[in-house]
Amino acid sequence: RVKRQGRDDTCLFTRQHMKDVEHRLSIGHRLRGAAGRGEMELFYQPQLHAGSRELIGFEALIRWNDPERGRVSPLSFIPVAEALGLMPELGRWIVGEACRQAKAWRDEGFDAFAISINVSMQELQSGGLVAQVADALDRNGLPPSALCIELTESSLMENVERVRGTLSELKALGTHIALDDFGTGYSSLAYLKHFPIDKLKIDQSFVKGLPGDVNDAAIARTIVAMAHQLEMLVSAEGVENDAQATFLTEIGCDELQGYHFGRPCRAGHARAWLSGTSAGG
Ligand code: C2E
Ligand code: MG
Ligand code: MG
Ligand code: MG
Repeated sequence: RVKRQGRDDTCLFTRQHMKDVEHRLSIGHRLRGAAGRGEMELFYQPQLHAGSRELIGFEALIRWNDPERGRVSPLSFIPVAEALGLMPELGRWIVGEACRQAKAWRDEGFDAFAISINVSMQELQSGGLVAQVADALDRNGLPPSALCIELTESSLMENVERVRGTLSELKALGTHIALDDFGTGYSSLAYLKHFPIDKLKIDQSFVKGLPGDVNDAAIARTIVAMAHQLEMLVSAEGVENDAQATFLTEIGCDELQGYHFGRPCRAGHARAWLSGTSAGG
């Protein structure tokens, strides 16, 4: 009986696996050169200072407007782009586009905001990231401090020396560095302090249960205390209601981001945030 169940599992796995492979092949084919064909777009989500609730920046989040399937989530195509080695090229477009947009807004007189960009594991490893960032800043005449590079906790653990080198170079350039999805990886405290990290972003899975869930509350408090001990800022992502925002502000979280304040939106809509004409939310 046990054996037969095992065989069914194998079968199920294989079918799912085949589906995944087909999905990757079909998506991968169209993904190649998509940025060059104008199918990629950056959305911007507001980031707020917790105490004052003032806008301090935006996180750039990529969307793919696939002519065949419509808007595709980065959760489904970034892993494929990584697997196909397309990420360094796509990353170059992302950095360039985010900096172009930041300059356009600065040219309109808005200069008190930062842009956060997500970089994937492959971009960190590729060796070209620092030059790409330096070049995009230079071309657009942007101060490096207007840019924050977000990487996930798990990409920190891969090829440690190489990543440390890349982060040190970014730091020397003057950009900020944030650790995304914090709490979902396995980095130790001792480990963290060896990297030039400015900010920890509490993963949204720990924000969800706030303020009622005692475990989430304990985790959030611990991350805030730890980050401040290490002289880092703390941001919370996935803030969806006022009770979460209030709790996070009370425990000393520095920055807030989430649907409660604003969803990722097109650049044109983000501009309204800058001019203060949008109430947000
Ligand atoms: P992330 O960097 O952790 O981004 C946060 C994700 O949570 C975004 O999903 C955002 O739309 C979503 N989010 C924001 N506020 C809320 C909220 O209040 N509730 C909920 N439920 N979700 C919220 P998105 O845009 O689908 O991006 C998913 C992930 O894809 C990102 O996670 C990031 O890891 C990756 N990604 C997105 N854009 C890029 C990019 O330009 N380059 C790279 N390398 N990765 C990217
Ligand atoms: Mg992020
Ligand atoms: Mg995150
Ligand atoms: Mg994430």
